[in-house]
Amino acid sequence: MGCNFSLNIRPFSYKLGTKLYLCSLKIKNMSQDVRVRFAPSPTGPLHIGGVRTALYNYLFAKKLKGTFILRIEDTDQNRYVPGAEQYIIDALNWCGIPYDEGPGKEGGYGPYRQSERKDKYMAFAEKLVESNHAYYAFDSATSLDEQRKAAEAKGETFIYNWHNRNELDNSLNLTEEETRSRIDAGEDFVIRFKSPQDETLFLHDIIRGAMSIDTNILDDKVLFKADGMPTYHLANIVDDHLMEITHVIRGEEWLPSLALHVLLYRSFGWEAPQFAHLPLIMKPVGKGKLSKRDGDKMGFPVFPLEWKDPNTGDISMGYREDGYLPQAVVNFLAFLGWNPGTEKEVYTLEGLIQDFDLEKVHKGGAKFDPEKTKWFQQQHLQLLDEATITGLFMDFLDKKGISENKEYVARVVHLIKERAVFVADLWDSGNFFFERPHIYEEKAAKKAWKEDTAPLMTELTNIINKVEDFSAQNLSAIVKPWIHEKGVGFGRVMQPLRLSLVGEMKGPDVFDIMALIGKDKTLERLRFAIQTL
Ligand code: GLU
Repeated sequence: MGCNFSLNIRPFSYKLGTKLYLCSLKIKNMSQDVRVRFAPSPTGPLHIGGVRTALYNYLFAKKLKGTFILRIEDTDQNRYVPGAEQYIIDALNWCGIPYDEGPGKEGGYGPYRQSERKDKYMAFAEKLVESNHAYYAFDSATSLDEQRKAAEAKGETFIYNWHNRNELDNSLNLTEEETRSRIDAGEDFVIRFKSPQDETLFLHDIIRGAMSIDTNILDDKVLFKADGMPTYHLANIVDDHLMEITHVIRGEEWLPSLALHVLLYRSFGWEAPQFAHLPLIMKPVGKGKLSKRDGDKMGFPVFPLEWKDPNTGDISMGYREDGYLPQAVVNFLAFLGWNPGTEKEVYTLEGLIQDFDLEKVHKGGAKFDPEKTKWFQQQHLQLLDEATITGLFMDFLDKKGISENKEYVARVVHLIKERAVFVADLWDSGNFFFERPHIYEEKAAKKAWKEDTAPLMTELTNIINKVEDFSAQNLSAIVKPWIHEKGVGFGRVMQPLRLSLVGEMKGPDVFDIMALIGKDKTLERLRFAIQTL
């Protein structure tokens, strides 16, 4: 039998009398070109969990020289949020993981928005009715609701499937003519999948391995809705088939749909793609999935880019606006559910493409760690060359209305970049290179500025005024012996000097600061301090 699905299945103990469909599912041939898709619904901003799904799809495709497709699953018009599709596209581009095919990038399999493929789905649903894998159901919402309530009253759950479908209002219990005339009369109907009875279905997932499921627990899911639109299940399978998707890589929340999806492929007689369900991203503390609330509470974003809700105007923080580098975001997302099995943690996108392995993705949930996220950011900032950091810092200064020449900014960056995590940290630790201190930190002033400090600083000002060669080395060679000569402690001079230049007790070597800001500014700041303090 030409089926390689069984190769992926671990041995099972087979129950006699149960129908086995071990080999009835056709799996796509591995020699085919890899085609994967990221298929978000544009219902709001893309959560970082979604970005990770996109990233894993991207890495898998690029490693195997395949195609990464973006398909917008927007069949549920009630949940459509304007701007969400553009947000998804912007987020992928910012992360540096653009799609090869998708909206605006035709690849011969479009359109890539399900709303533009509307007319394709009905015929597929009808095909399943013809082959007796699906049926028309006329049950009204009220009648289904009543039955649901009646079941609940008995402590049971109402399931529409093999055990009751012969008693419900559907085409299985009507003649063809009756069904046709009700449809022609304009009655509302849905098309339901006829899930099989008494079968053990064997499923395979690249990450989770083999699973089996008793089909008796499945309900007859709606494939086509009364409003003329397909449900997610039908549209998703039809499109994956038409777009020749070879691997479906998606979040764990879709694992419960796997049985239905596999059954749909079988019913259509189509080859199924391979499936990989990614682990959930969990809260940093406590149990459960990472949510926006966790981020708000602990002060970190759960979205790649800032998002303004079009209805409420509420703003949600984004990694980009928080000052993260896209390569840091990509690196930390890659490690939420995967690692190479070595000590290596700092990765470029190219490195990830090389080392990423879907089979090494973990089954268990991945705990989100905001501190580790910052650590990745620091590593990636420090990996940048000084010219690049200088460019980023110049943009930052520009937004503050500060324009300085590049050479000067580069020298500042060289002095202070070492401990920076974000570009904004360069400002926090080096703002005094661009403006004189507005206030003197109280505690530092108290400690550094004593009664005899002003005359000492005045004298120092006169000495500095005479210095021609304003290099750090020369300044040090002049000021240090003078302090020695005065017979005051080193700190009695250096501390108020630093306070005058910086406003507090931070910053690199004082002589480096003086050399960089130059003679005029040094003198001006000293005089100002003498006047004010
Ligand atoms: N539209 C689904 C979502 O929003 C796609 C799930 C899948 O990848 O099959 O996640």
